[in-house]
Amino acid sequence: MKIVLETIPVWDGLKEDSECFLCSLMKRAESDAIGYYLSSAVMTPEVRVETNTYGFCPHHHRKLAEANKPQVLALIMDTYYDENKKSFSSPFEKIASAKKAKNAEKAIKEFSEAYMGREKGCLVCTRMNDRLYRYCFTIAALFEQDADFRKALSESKGFCVHHTLELAKVAGDAIGGDSLLEFYKTIFSLLERNLERVQKDDWWMTQKYKSENKDKPWNGCEDAQKRAVYKLVGEADVIDPLKDKKSRI
Ligand SMILES: [Zn+2]
Ligand SMILES: [Zn+2]
Repeated sequence: MKIVLETIPVWDGLKEDSECFLCSLMKRAESDAIGYYLSSAVMTPEVRVETNTYGFCPHHHRKLAEANKPQVLALIMDTYYDENKKSFSSPFEKIASAKKAKNAEKAIKEFSEAYMGREKGCLVCTRMNDRLYRYCFTIAALFEQDADFRKALSESKGFCVHHTLELAKVAGDAIGGDSLLEFYKTIFSLLERNLERVQKDDWWMTQKYKSENKDKPWNGCEDAQKRAVYKLVGEADVIDPLKDKKSRI
């Protein structure tokens, strides 16, 4: 499969100078995907088959509900409930007609598995995942092809731990040999250096709460505790992708 490089959003992201520009790009990807599933696209039969079959993870189901698009979401939910009935009706019947608690428990387990199975797929996560793959692929490809990009990346704040690992998983599809090794070394030295920096900022915040430091400058550490969290876990991870990526890592 030929991957079209996402050069412009990746360069723009890098220039943002945030703690992890993949997090920013993925927040945008998430809101685009939510917007898509709350648009007239869901009136088309193919998209409705998708929403009925795969649905959304709990996180994105809630996001759809919070977006306040009642008419479109009502349509999605109506046929999604119809689909649920196909797997829920048999355990419901068994529970209602059970003569012993043990038989009911077996049917409750069957219901629980059917319910968990319905939560497995997520169309929003899948769309985010597709975009994340293209962004990671582009970052590795630009690292090999463009000396300016390589320099800007090595001087940047890097990525959160979550996205550093994603980059490492995808890079081997885009580049190989010495470039790949150099890429691994670059993203992990960026991570090490920037974890250190974020911890120092966080430490300065702990010091700022001491009375003797009350009048000293914040040095840009007003949000250090949040950055310390986001640098580790990211701000918009893909929770439940439908497709498992093939990767050596
Ligand atoms: Zn990130
Ligand atoms: Zn999801």
